[in-house]
Amino acid sequence: MKRGILFVLSGPSGVGKGTVCTLLRSKLTELVYSVSATTRSPREGEKDGVNYFFKSREQFMRMIEEDALLEHAEYVGNYYGTPRDFVEKTLSEGKDIILEIEVQGALKVREKFAEGVFVFLMPPSLNELKQRIVGRGTETQATIDHRLSVAVEEMNLLHHYDYAVVNDKIELACERISSIITAEHCKRERF
Ligand code: 5GP
Repeated sequence: MKRGILFVLSGPSGVGKGTVCTLLRSKLTELVYSVSATTRSPREGEKDGVNYFFKSREQFMRMIEEDALLEHAEYVGNYYGTPRDFVEKTLSEGKDIILEIEVQGALKVREKFAEGVFVFLMPPSLNELKQRIVGRGTETQATIDHRLSVAVEEMNLLHHYDYAVVNDKIELACERISSIITAEHCKRERF
């Protein structure tokens, strides 16, 4: 069976990866979404197994030891990682999967999945990004400052990606990503 395609949607925190991914999932129902594990506490409304698998540090460390994660990264004081088996299983069933992860993790996936498709979601400007992080209202000032300084560093890693998509309007960003998915399928079409 033809393997599915691994898509990685990455970019700085606050750029709207989560929102874009949610809309994408509602439009492209055959695209499978990888649910990450994290040591971060759930935000209001977030559900275990849906938004994340919420883990203690001990549980997360055990996942690393057991090689259960395809990649993991520490981000602003918490750990985040992609469960490996689910990704492998989905691809071997011929289904496409999308990972919504931060930049360091994306670069690690790039080393393992050279055939993956890496999309960098960009804010229209840094000022706009700041407004979005502040506007979310869920972060302390120290976390906002930390996330912003990480974002600036992350923007400099754009050249490692196959595509850059500006998130000026969520619907437009989704359409662009959808076109990328179509194009990548056309690229791999064989008799
Ligand atoms: P948040 O705490 O806002 O949900 O996520 C913080 C950052 O972690 C975001 O940039 C998000 O994309 C990223 N992230 C979520 N899951 C993973 C993962 O499995 N691996 C990595 N490396 N980053 C992740």
